Amino acid sequence: MKSVVFAAAAAALLASPALAQDAPQWSLAIHGGAGVIERAQLSPERDAAYRAGLQAALDAGSAVLARGGSALDAVQAAVETMEDNPLFNAGRGAVFTSAGKNELDAAVMSGPDLTAGAVAGLTRTRHPIAAARAVMEKSPHVMMIGEGAETFARSVGLEEVAPSWFFTESRWQALVRTLTERGEPVPPRPEGAPAEPARQGPAAPLAFNLNEAPLDERKFGTVGAVAMDSQGRLAAATSTGGTTGKRWGRVGDVPIIGAGTYASNADGCAVSATGAGEYFIRATVARDICQRTAEGASVQQAADAEIAEVGSIGGDGGVIVMGKDGVHAFSMNTSGMYRGAVSSTSPARVAIYGDEEGRR
Ligand code: ASP
Repeated sequence: MKSVVFAAAAAALLASPALAQDAPQWSLAIHGGAGVIERAQLSPERDAAYRAGLQAALDAGSAVLARGGSALDAVQAAVETMEDNPLFNAGRGAVFTSAGKNELDAAVMSGPDLTAGAVAGLTRTRHPIAAARAVMEKSPHVMMIGEGAETFARSVGLEEVAPSWFFTESRWQALVRTLTERGEPVPPRPEGAPAEPARQGPAAPLAFNLNEAPLDERKFGTVGAVAMDSQGRLAAATSTGGTTGKRWGRVGDVPIIGAGTYASNADGCAVSATGAGEYFIRATVARDICQRTAEGASVQQAADAEIAEVGSIGGDGGVIVMGKDGVHAFSMNTSGMYRGAVSSTSPARVAIYGDEEGRR
């Protein structure tokens, strides 16, 4: 367990006061997962690719907000770009279960009316966040799982893909390593997956770049977004493949309303989390943060206090929080978190490492 909260560094991401937190009309913050993410481990190319992915998500979400669109549409748009980006553990690029499948979880929540939607264990819906939104808006329910959720998603016209759409070699090799370490059998490569890249020799690494892949096992690549729109409405959205090698039917914090995702205008807060889901569920992280802001804490104070609490029970990870005045906060007890923010009064910035100061 780490007790250091990188709040100061995270806050410094947008610490330039004239630029950043001047009563914006709209505001957006995103994350692409927290964890052990250090400069020495990320090649310049990989670093740049992550930053480009975060920037694309900010661009998608801010385009919605800048034209007067809703916070809900903005968080969905931002999350969908990351679901399609194989670098992140959500949608395409999701981690594998111990059975060699991609099982996807997502949730969305609307701050003004406390409506929410969540899905768990999807294997075919291209954008799980769209399915969560449909549960919220087109069903009488809050949460749907597995086959039923997929049938529902299909019934409302959401795009389906073959399960192999979500396959990436680096996530597969991460599963192979995880199961090998656990002494468990490795399932066959999924149907429709490309053939395994050739090795130069028995002990040689695979031809594609696996050197950075171990990093993926020590970070949580969940994606999320929180926003305030020009009407002051708050929303939160989170999407994930869960954790590498998760077992039968395991569901993490992401689709649990109040754990990995929560938004409430009355409480003045919207939250999306990333981290060791089992701990985030037990600490009811997202709801607690909103309770703290309702009691008068700033979004940064609330986020830091909650991350310290989840850390105290052994959980690693981070959160992004949006306040009702459009001020956002990042907080994590890991060495890095892929993250970014933009508002009507501050340009888009993205960051990765805990000690960054808003460099793009
Ligand atoms: N929180 C996610 C889960 O436990 C993992 C992550 O953040 O990447 O399913």
